[in-house]
Amino acid sequence: MILILKPELDSESEDRVLDRLHELGINAQLVRTSGRAVIVLKSDVSEEPNHRFTQIEGVVKAVRLAAGYSLASSIKDKSVAISASSAGKSLKPSFIGSGHMPLVMAGPCSVESAEHILEVAASVKEAGASVLRAGAFKPRTSPYEFQGLKEEGLEYLKEASKRTGLPIVTEVLSPDKVETVAEFADILQIGTRNMYNYELLREVGRLGRPVLLKRGMSATIDEFLYAAEYILKEGNEQLILCERGIRTFENRLRNTLDLSAVPLLKSLSGLPVVVDPSHATGSRAMVRPMSRAAIACGADGLLLEVHDRPDQSISDAEQAIDPGELAAVVKDMVAIVLALGLGAGSGDSGESAVEENALFASVRSLSESI
Ligand code: PEP
Ligand code: MN
Repeated sequence: MILILKPELDSESEDRVLDRLHELGINAQLVRTSGRAVIVLKSDVSEEPNHRFTQIEGVVKAVRLAAGYSLASSIKDKSVAISASSAGKSLKPSFIGSGHMPLVMAGPCSVESAEHILEVAASVKEAGASVLRAGAFKPRTSPYEFQGLKEEGLEYLKEASKRTGLPIVTEVLSPDKVETVAEFADILQIGTRNMYNYELLREVGRLGRPVLLKRGMSATIDEFLYAAEYILKEGNEQLILCERGIRTFENRLRNTLDLSAVPLLKSLSGLPVVVDPSHATGSRAMVRPMSRAAIACGADGLLLEVHDRPDQSISDAEQAIDPGELAAVVKDMVAIVLALGLGAGSGDSGESAVEENALFASVRSLSESI
């Protein structure tokens, strides 16, 4: 259950509500979201009538939640600030989520070499990406396949970020590597295979850094939001959800991209939602059309695998697009954003929706030419 408090309540009155709940033997936590204070009741109050809570001075409403992910459900219109820690403090952060223009995270599946990641980073930036993606620790289905350059790969990513100013999203596979990966990553990625790794979820929750949580390939929406809840429960609200396709009976493509997850997740939680059409389809020909659809249905961003010579990618070659195709995806995205008037509001950061980067510059020039 969530208790909505009077908007003008001062902190002393908020404490009085919490004290009263504790007197009643109820475990409760105050959460601030979008400038409003709500109290999340963690104890089981299913047998208690609502008026038991609404009669407490300062409580406006008691809302019973159908699902048990009360923190994820209480978040409204969240946007997450992302900045390149390696590139110095002078760069303005990008925002992902409510009220902001959708953004693109792009790069190769794996960090392949120092020269390669520098080259791809420069070309994805040129094509309009705002974040560089690449795996240094790779979760591979077969133990005989390339497992990533590990710590060495993280160093190369850092250099690419320094040179381009692009923040980095990269995967962390185990709790004992969270600290190491966090030294380099601006967003820590939890991959599909680790969505159920609760110790890893708790560890990135304690870190207080942006996290990109990918949906488990066989996870229901409720299981996905419970995984998000593990991270939120540790106090980390800088969380981005990623729909990356699920396993179904259909086997022509690598997975089935469940795009209805985007509006559904947004109706259940205010966390930003991005879509990964690369892993969802496993086919480069599908990436552009499904990117269009993802933006049109309200995704806050795209996670895309891009390689200068897609066929020669060390991992996931079939789904990699080249920088030229990425530029086409970005152009589509801009056209859809303009046509549907997306990203026109302002998120909970209070910042303007118009940020200075390659994508937004192209939005402006495109709108001027229309
Ligand atoms: C990735 O994005 O690098 C990745 C391994 O994706 P997933 O966990 O969705 O398979
Ligand atoms: Mn991949």
